[in-house]
Amino acid sequence: MAAPEYLVCINCESPCYVFEWKDDAPTEVLCEVCGNEDIEEFLTPEDFDTLIGS
Ligand SMILES: [Zn+2]
Repeated sequence: MAAPEYLVCINCESPCYVFEWKDDAPTEVLCEVCGNEDIEEFLTPEDFDTLIGS
């Protein structure tokens, strides 16, 4: 999977454009809104839509 345009911070639901992507997953990410940098707490826009759409 190619890198998405942004990742969604599930802590504050903001799009985050500051991240490193390798292969098919983020390796580093920083939410500039709430300071979250736990990779486990970010989703791709696609995954986020699936989550909130269900
Ligand atoms: Zn955040």
